Amino acid sequence: MRYDRRNRTNLDNLSPNTRAAAYKWYQFCLNNQIDILITETIRTKEKQAEYVKNGSSQTMKSWHLVGQALDFVPVSVTGGADYNAYYRPDIQRAIVEAKRLGFKWGGDWKGSWDKPHLEYQYKGYGTDKKLDFLPVINKLKRDDDTMTAAEKKEFDELKATVKAQADRIKMLEKQNSMEIPKWAEKAVKTAQEAGLIDTPKGGSEDFYRILTVLYRGGLLSTRVEDKL
Ligand SMILES: [Zn+2]
Repeated sequence: MRYDRRNRTNLDNLSPNTRAAAYKWYQFCLNNQIDILITETIRTKEKQAEYVKNGSSQTMKSWHLVGQALDFVPVSVTGGADYNAYYRPDIQRAIVEAKRLGFKWGGDWKGSWDKPHLEYQYKGYGTDKKLDFLPVINKLKRDDDTMTAAEKKEFDELKATVKAQADRIKMLEKQNSMEIPKWAEKAVKTAQEAGLIDTPKGGSEDFYRILTVLYRGGLLSTRVEDKL
């Protein structure tokens, strides 16, 4: 793909679901060595007004304004943009794929066709605001039935890992706020009597361990200020 970087920069400006579909289409072009240049995706109102003025567009309700359309041109073997090559067999294959992915092709329009143009209508004009995860989830569900033994094993391992991590988090949370352990009871009681702590419960394991060390060292007798 000769203009890969430019193509991706343009694709990145599309609205989320249009972008996802456009990247699937772009990957198809890459896989099949179909060389294209994506000339334009999202367009400002000012730009659109300019196009209307010079006659290259007839509407101020362009799908480009809402990030739901892209324009592309076939790239010739010498690297030029070839606006006469839309019926080249590889480009026709790319167009068939674009339509399969839900795009409308401007070359199909009666009367005033617009061959560079692909638009993704999604749920209507200007509706493509948030990435829809439902198709992804549905695909995952579908694929579940067709998982190979190796994939199933990998999936089960993943589930086991998630479970182990959840247990570990629960354990760590418990360590950070626990009941007074048996081995720390004397130390806690002494510290409380000495007025050093007023919330004996719900400390961390480290808290009780330090308290016990201090207790064993005989350091929990009284408040420091009482000694002064
Ligand atoms: Zn267009």
